[in-house]
Amino acid sequence: MHPHIPIKNDPKPFFAKVPELKNQPKASLRVVDKCDWCEDRRAQGFADPACVANCFGKALVFGDRNDPESRVAKLIAAEKTVVLFPDLGTKPQVLYIAPDPAVFRAAELQINDE
Ligand code: SF4
Repeated sequence: MHPHIPIKNDPKPFFAKVPELKNQPKASLRVVDKCDWCEDRRAQGFADPACVANCFGKALVFGDRNDPESRVAKLIAAEKTVVLFPDLGTKPQVLYIAPDPAVFRAAELQINDE
């Protein structure tokens, strides 16, 4: 939640699905914030965003894709990557290493692009 921007809409329609909202004064409710790559955290000297630093599976890699020596640039160069909903034209900056269809076939699972 954004620390400063309050919601504008009436929260009552959401009480049934999110009952914990009922006890919150409207003035205390905040809008959902957009990912900013943990700008504040990195300004404090941390190299990685919180989600990258805390991913125990080390599934997330953060870095400057324009720096050819960065791990993220090397991964992009070496792997086939995809973005979510490229047709929306939002130029996503989160890339996913495309799944290997053979792995899914071996597990008898389907992936979206097959
Ligand atoms: S924790 Fe991850 S998803 Fe959340 S703001 Fe930081 S970089 Fe974005």
